[in-house]
Amino acid sequence: MQAAVWYGRRDIRVEERAAGEVGPTDVRVEVDTCGICGSDLHEYAAGPIFIPEGEPHPVSGEAAPITMGHEFSGVVSEVGESVTDLAAGDPVAINPILCCGECRQCVEGNYHICDAIGFIGLSGGGGGFAESVVVDAQHAVPLGEDVPLEHGALVEPLSVGLHAVRRSGIRAGDSVAVFGCGPIGLSVVQCARAAGAGRIFVSEPRDARRERAADAGASDLVDPAATDAVDHVVAATGGGVDAAFEVAGIEPTFNAALESTRPSGTVTVVSIWEEGVTMHPNTVVLGERTLTGTLAYLGGPRASEEYGMVVDMLADGTLDPDPLVTDRIGLDDIVDDGFESLLDEESDQVKIFVKP
Ligand SMILES: [Zn+2]
Ligand SMILES: [Zn+2]
Repeated sequence: MQAAVWYGRRDIRVEERAAGEVGPTDVRVEVDTCGICGSDLHEYAAGPIFIPEGEPHPVSGEAAPITMGHEFSGVVSEVGESVTDLAAGDPVAINPILCCGECRQCVEGNYHICDAIGFIGLSGGGGGFAESVVVDAQHAVPLGEDVPLEHGALVEPLSVGLHAVRRSGIRAGDSVAVFGCGPIGLSVVQCARAAGAGRIFVSEPRDARRERAADAGASDLVDPAATDAVDHVVAATGGGVDAAFEVAGIEPTFNAALESTRPSGTVTVVSIWEEGVTMHPNTVVLGERTLTGTLAYLGGPRASEEYGMVVDMLADGTLDPDPLVTDRIGLDDIVDDGFESLLDEESDQVKIFVKP
């Protein structure tokens, strides 16, 4: 089968890879749709970050070259002999989290911050930029009848947004500011809206992304190239928002998120960083602000886990996938029309779906 494989920085090759064997607890999934994620762009442009190079990943046992793609949906085509809760023909979204099951966080149920955290499609274990993948059945989350198969590829990024919003502790009526409106920023906007947020400010330099933020539920759109976002937010709210989200991963937005938050407010950092930042700790200390990080999501199908919640919220229309998706491409075009297009500062792309 054809797959897109990471060999090194700016070196992703679409090539023939062997389709895996289905073991007793595994399922084979024919991939329908796999989104290109900001993390994939980091691995392509500045990696490896999550991709194991040389030393194999402790859970997958694999190192680069590895098949990429961790935001995907597909249809089960084969089930192992001890799999009882899935059958051929079932539409599923893949929970890509790889964890050890033994560290303190795993034992406490917080497997998404496992000491050995990894992701299918970044850390080995196959990936969604391929015609099919073999995963342990516990990674396959049923989509049911009410979620279109293609929308299943957005369960992963929407779960990132939902987890960030839940971790921020926002309550109905709270004012919110989101810095950066890529796919995760737009997911945060949608989930904050679903959580009952009041005014939602977004700061985003690209026109097309601000328009999509409005579609996703933002009420105040700020172009930081034209308007000082901190001044605007602080003036409009009489002192700052209750909760800010940093979703761009650069120093100016990190500090703007802190400075846009009211004393005793919360800043949630969602980005994965290529470099460190300089900040003044007094911004946190003098206003008793809370600065918190958030990673991934709980990826199981149960109602207590974010994947299960997102599937339900897609099924009942609480979340609207359409503002996120800007293009659909074939696997052969993944580098030029996918990665390079998303890295182009002039491009209007947000989420590109690859259809292997
Ligand atoms: Zn992702
Ligand atoms: Zn663990």
